[in-house]
Amino acid sequence: GPAPEADVEARAWLKRHDATFGHFIGGKFVAPHAGKYLTTIEPATGKTLAKIAQGAAADVEAAVSAARSAQPLWAKLGGHGRARHLYALARMLQRHARLFAVLEAIDNGKPIRETRDLDVPLAARHFLYHAGWAQLQEREFADQVPIGVIGQIIPWNFPLLMLAWKIAPALAAGNTVVLKPAEFTSLTALLFAELAAEAGLPPGVLNVVTGDGATGALLVENPDVDKIAFTGSTEVGRSIRQSTAGSGKSLTLELGGKSPFIVFDDADIDGAVEGVVDAIWFNQGQVCCAGSRLLVQEGIADTFRKRLIRRMETLRVGPPLDKAIDMGAVVAPVQLERIKSMVETGVKEGAEIYQAPAAIPNEGCFYPPTFLWNVHPSSTVAIEEIFGPVLVAMTFRTPDEAVMLANNTRYGLAASVWSETIGLALDIAPKLQAGVVWVNATNLFDASVGFGGYRESGFGREGGREGMYEYLKPKAWSTRKPRAKV
Ligand code: NAD
Repeated sequence: GPAPEADVEARAWLKRHDATFGHFIGGKFVAPHAGKYLTTIEPATGKTLAKIAQGAAADVEAAVSAARSAQPLWAKLGGHGRARHLYALARMLQRHARLFAVLEAIDNGKPIRETRDLDVPLAARHFLYHAGWAQLQEREFADQVPIGVIGQIIPWNFPLLMLAWKIAPALAAGNTVVLKPAEFTSLTALLFAELAAEAGLPPGVLNVVTGDGATGALLVENPDVDKIAFTGSTEVGRSIRQSTAGSGKSLTLELGGKSPFIVFDDADIDGAVEGVVDAIWFNQGQVCCAGSRLLVQEGIADTFRKRLIRRMETLRVGPPLDKAIDMGAVVAPVQLERIKSMVETGVKEGAEIYQAPAAIPNEGCFYPPTFLWNVHPSSTVAIEEIFGPVLVAMTFRTPDEAVMLANNTRYGLAASVWSETIGLALDIAPKLQAGVVWVNATNLFDASVGFGGYRESGFGREGGREGMYEYLKPKAWSTRKPRAKV
């Protein structure tokens, strides 16, 4: 079970704030203008966790105005000056790694093993990496200038990590930020902002306005925001694209996916089975690039299914703070209901189902690892993103058929190819319509590699040199030659 007092520090932090949080604007907590709050729950127990402010127009305006005032000085600091702050933010995360990992697990429901080993260290890594770019900025991006004030809207599946992906490059490039975290999971963003201020980040450089989609829409519509960077559902992404059209705002979108996981009959089967576990049961399957569509070559389909089911028998589901679990709780009751209804639809449409026999806590938003096979390529569960711990499987005969099935989606975020024949893997990879392709691997993330989608998975990249360009705009400089004096 969980270490008995694992969450003492996180609970103390909540208590210090009376479990009630205003927005973080201009370097301090500010009560919401209209006095409205939302209640957030702890997904693993269903109990109330905290109250967060519901941002109204006046709150968004105050945050944008704080960001606007801070931007010229932040830009003037220069690359080396900003790098010092980004290094300080990385060290702050490292110093408080345990607090962040525990708070994230409580607030989101994901296993502490993941927050401790992935979310928090990868977030710190993102600040370190972008501190490097900030230092190089005047040489490497000499013909670029910051965009200005950036509005950033993030989802609930990787609250702290998505914060890092968004704000590290934006701040490195000399912009200031108004961040709107997801309403289910705003706590680590608020903790981050508070500790960033203590670590000396100038007031107004990072502002956090909490609230639901309506607050996000107010940020999108604010005329003094120069760019919107959004990660979330394709549906909301589409509406943001429409509402920013013609506004002069820049926009990047990181949206949904239905990523194929292709296993050829010469693959290392045990390796590929482990790959599937990571692809679809990591973070309860709430991963935009989850390998949610398993495509197996016919000759090994039966063997593969049996080995996968045997592996599923060993998966453990339980409280997020228990270090021995493989899967925690999904983020909220509404998501749990959505997952249940998608699985029912799949079964109604003819899929066969296996669910891991793991013991599941009685209360809270838990759902077992689930595997649907004999899924028809045109059925709902093969097409729609489930965003939960549900794998759907289909078979194919030839490599061409695998490519066709893999690309038979409106999305294009990621793809994973498993084969021991290097020639085959290298032939297939470029044919896949996906922004990221992994060979004999899945869910590899690196701050130096641009991540992003094709088609309805969005546009723009996060990470790498290409990610820096998303927060800069080109500026051509020229001057007339002085006239020769005679
Ligand atoms: P969502 O689109 O409902 O919400 C995302 C964020 O947008 C939240 O902060 C929400 O409050 C805000 N929002 C909602 N309506 C808005 C509106 N009209 N205007 C402005 N902001 C609004 O998505 P979600 O359910 O929170 O997240 C799950 C989705 O995110 C999945 O589809 C997943 O694939 C996607 N996702 C994509 C990536 C990626 O990098 N491509 C990463 C993580 C998640």
